[in-house]
Amino acid sequence: MLNKKKKTIDWLIQNYLSFFEKFGMNEGNIIRHHKSWKENRPDIIEDYLWYIFNRLLIENKHQSRDLIEFYERNRLIYSEMISFRRKIEGKKANEIQNMYNRNIVELELEKNSENGIAYDFTVITPQDCKACQHLTDKVISKREALENNTIPYENCTRTQGCVCLISIMPRRDENGRLIFI
Ligand SMILES: [Zn+2]
Repeated sequence: MLNKKKKTIDWLIQNYLSFFEKFGMNEGNIIRHHKSWKENRPDIIEDYLWYIFNRLLIENKHQSRDLIEFYERNRLIYSEMISFRRKIEGKKANEIQNMYNRNIVELELEKNSENGIAYDFTVITPQDCKACQHLTDKVISKREALENNTIPYENCTRTQGCVCLISIMPRRDENGRLIFI
């Protein structure tokens, strides 16, 4: 059962302060900013939390020193957004799972851009996701990994949301040795 009691700024601080601190925020500026934020809209703390997540995504572009750091931090933000939507709101958040996976692919492409190794991607699917079963152990290209429709997020039958993941897979020859480009 989801707890539907109205949530407060204290709840947000208690549950999310340590996460926001990783991005240079502190209790003082979260509370101060909340005061001005709620002047123009209903004070729904979940909406305020969502607003901060989105601000972090925007700010991340300016705060990260390089692309790898940018994708690493995006990964943390998306994963916190997914967990909030699912655990607190009881929604599937498949569209964010999609963004999470795309970001992982971008991160892996960036990390491996100079090592000369040839690689593909693969999809990791859980047993209970019927819509994604055909992707189990399937090797997909970089292009497919970046395409929106490779994983059928919207057809996923899992009530808690799609948990399929895309992971990088180096190409190997018949003796198991890495192939270099
Ligand atoms: Zn799925």
